[in-house]
Amino acid sequence: MHFTFQNSELLPGLNCIDGRWVAAHDERLFPVSDPATGEVFAQVPDSGAADARAALQAAHAAFKTWRKVPAKQRAQIIKRWNDLIVAQIEDLGRLISSEQGKPLAEGKGEVLYAASYVEWFAEEATRADGQIIPAPVPGRRMFALREPVGVIAAVTPWNFPAAMIARKIAPALAAGCTVVCKPAEDTPLTSLALVKLAEQAGVPPGVLNIVTASRERAGEVVDVWLDDARVRKITFTGSTPVGKHLARRSADTLKKLSLELGGNAPFIVFDDADIDAAVDGLMSAKFRNGGQTCVCPNRIYVQDAVHDEFVQKLAARVGALVVGPATDPASQIGPMINARAVDKIERHVQDAVKRGARVVVGGKRLSPEGKAGAYYYAPTVLTHVDAAMQCSCEETFGPIAPVTRFSSEADVIAAANATPFGLAAYFYSRDVRRIWRLADELESGIVGINEGAVAAEAAPFGGVKDSGYGREGSTHGLQEYMHIKYLCQGQLD
Ligand code: NAP
Repeated sequence: MHFTFQNSELLPGLNCIDGRWVAAHDERLFPVSDPATGEVFAQVPDSGAADARAALQAAHAAFKTWRKVPAKQRAQIIKRWNDLIVAQIEDLGRLISSEQGKPLAEGKGEVLYAASYVEWFAEEATRADGQIIPAPVPGRRMFALREPVGVIAAVTPWNFPAAMIARKIAPALAAGCTVVCKPAEDTPLTSLALVKLAEQAGVPPGVLNIVTASRERAGEVVDVWLDDARVRKITFTGSTPVGKHLARRSADTLKKLSLELGGNAPFIVFDDADIDAAVDGLMSAKFRNGGQTCVCPNRIYVQDAVHDEFVQKLAARVGALVVGPATDPASQIGPMINARAVDKIERHVQDAVKRGARVVVGGKRLSPEGKAGAYYYAPTVLTHVDAAMQCSCEETFGPIAPVTRFSSEADVIAAANATPFGLAAYFYSRDVRRIWRLADELESGIVGINEGAVAAEAAPFGGVKDSGYGREGSTHGLQEYMHIKYLCQGQLD
């Protein structure tokens, strides 16, 4: 069973370059499938270098005028875009769930989450002010102005097909930049729909361009943008190896970069914590989007005295999760995005069990209704997990909760930081001194303290170490798309 869509305009099935909806130059296509069934339900352009160049040419030409559009007018267009996104919540939610697999309630939740960034940056557009600097000598006036950096290339992942692109494009447009973007192979449709709505909101031709590409041709498209000096910034969300590749390849043209990369979040429960709140927090942080989020707890540390109680309460909640397709309103955990994803989860669980972990609940692939090609994995709790296991070293990106017992605060801080990644970290404690010690010690861009749901448009989202640099959301999110120009006027005395 598939969703039906009320507004067929949201499914253009073409690239948008310079305000025209066009096929790839060589007319190649690639299929988009429903991860719940493996069934192909749409085709989109499989673009190459020629399409990437055309998109860049359009964005470069449009920058000359868009940067001069008054901030208030840009803000009004972006605000209309927000209104259209919110008005299309039903279709956009279904589109997200169809291509990405998350339950429909989460698909619709993502629409509002994406829109919250669009609205935020519409408002921020009018506040991109500068600074008047007191001159150190007579007869001078000194100013720091903020200017848009130029053409932005945005490359996005599949796990939040609306939110990831919204929180890049909205600040770029607000700052006065123009955009070329390439969404992930698995989820191109939501991005195309958002660009369609941006066009309807009044974003002028050439200001926002999108080309879709298969995984095989992603490099060909993005390399054009990496190598061209007219692209002044790359904004990327995705894996750390691809992020490092983008940083290396953009070095020759010294582009500005925002890299939102992989995580390996610790989630620590101290014996002074409110255990029920900690279980609630873990359920929301870990099992949103089936565990396929970059800020998802990947290593759960529970202190000796509360370990058994926590595991027992957690296992009861995890065992009760309903797994199924997005079309079923009862579903709480959808399919994983593709076969590679479910293979990785299976590999991590098998490796952990081989090395001594115990499966408390779950621990196996599922195929609801006996369907082949459905990428389901049972929500799982593992105990007796140690630092050498694959599930502790790498992001599993699935509904697996691996629990490690710990004794001392110093040991758990060392364990939590013993990773190259530093995106999110969580801990539960009611001791105020401990709370501030942990807040200082954790090497992470985001820290949830007695809170599992940390993301918000008003907050700076981003990591440290191998989780990247740059921030999305908040006032910092706009500055990523601007540079500072210093003006010094003399001879005034
Ligand atoms: P990915 O493989 O790095 O892909 C991300 C994007 O890069 C996709 O559009 C992909 O295209 C493209 N890409 C792949 N290879 C490329 C290449 N050689 N040159 C240029 N572009 C290339 O990551 P993913 O598997 O989609 O996403 C999961 C990862 O993203 C996880 O590590 C997760 O933690 C991270 N993530 C981070 C955040 C954050 O804010 N920090 C948020 C969400 C996800 P194709 O789809 O066609 O391969």
